[in-house]
Amino acid sequence: MNLHEYQAREILRRHGIPIPESAVADTPDEARAIAQRLGGKVVVKAQVHAGGRGKAGGVKLARDPAEAAAHATQILGMTIKGLRVHRVLVAPTVAITSESYVGIIVDRASQRPVLMVSPAGGVDIEEVATETPEKIHRLAIDPRYGLLPHQGLGLALKLYRDVAQARAAADIMQRLYAAFYAAGASLAEINPLVTGPDGAVAALDAKIVIDDNELDRHPEIAALRDTSAEAPSEVAAREAGLTFIKLEGSVACCVNGAGLAMATMDLVKYYGGEPANFLDIGGSSNPQKVVAALKIITADASVRSILFNIFGGITRCDDVANGIVQATQQLPLTVPLVIRLTGTNEVLAVQILTHAGFSALTDMDDAVKQAVARARVA
Ligand code: GDP
Ligand code: MN
Repeated sequence: MNLHEYQAREILRRHGIPIPESAVADTPDEARAIAQRLGGKVVVKAQVHAGGRGKAGGVKLARDPAEAAAHATQILGMTIKGLRVHRVLVAPTVAITSESYVGIIVDRASQRPVLMVSPAGGVDIEEVATETPEKIHRLAIDPRYGLLPHQGLGLALKLYRDVAQARAAADIMQRLYAAFYAAGASLAEINPLVTGPDGAVAALDAKIVIDDNELDRHPEIAALRDTSAEAPSEVAAREAGLTFIKLEGSVACCVNGAGLAMATMDLVKYYGGEPANFLDIGGSSNPQKVVAALKIITADASVRSILFNIFGGITRCDDVANGIVQATQQLPLTVPLVIRLTGTNEVLAVQILTHAGFSALTDMDDAVKQAVARARVA
């Protein structure tokens, strides 16, 4: 789950990381009032779940409250990477003499949190990573001990030659790791970490992504979810208890089990098609789940065919077949549906579906080939 910058800033502040005071506004008038309160010179920042806001025009400096209101008017109407901006953050402007990057991610390869720092922080960190990767320093953290003080200081000295600044940055890294760990994050990032003319080190931006599997343990963080900022299809899927990820292709896949879903997507590609989504309907044959799945799938205009691929174990194929029949009665389809079921009660399932006028198969290759072909014709 993504947090907004203003939510992430609050978490970092609670962990003692120096970060300028800020407030959020839904309207230009609110932005003006906040700017007034914060001394006039402020930065106005789009609150969307996307990086690169600066480059997209979503971060603007204002000299006075009137200009803050003008920037807010502009930014509140923007769409950044397909996401509408509903809210802006307003914070006092900080003079910047250097911009560094400090971030922690869960790294699959080392199976540990990895702390990454770079003296080349700011808006071009992606380019730094691809063009001058030697400017990024990494350290895998042993979660049994956390970030040890000498490790933090060693990395901080890659950012600052000044020992006082390096100590300040090492302290921020310790606190960032504590925040990352306590929140159940999969990513916690400060970019830029800046120094000002007085030499003080501070965070000017904050990004935190929470591991969805941690949300049950952190109800106060789960409550920060902003569904208005998420893809409507993914919100609907979560509410229906489905695991859904939208993709770019035209063959919608409706599968029980994550492994089978991945194998199905592989086979769709093998036969020359492109999957429109990853969708695991789980072990349930509840027609309401099938309806929810079909609603989500058919709301996607790029879907040209729908492929059901069901492996019946404890889930009975005839239950799923009845679910599909009921679901399509509630929600008539306008794109072709290809169904493959195998396992428990498959013969009965094929009878139910054929009787209802559907094409039902038991062979996975046949079904995938058909779904790909239908997506081409349609
Ligand atoms: P992002 O582009 O989405 O990562 O948004 P950031 O919050 O990181 O802002 C982008 C850039 O705007 C930063 O790298 C800074 O260069 C600049 N910026 C943000 N806040 C301030 C500020 O208070 N003062 C100055 N001078 N620049 C700022
Ligand atoms: Mn940033």
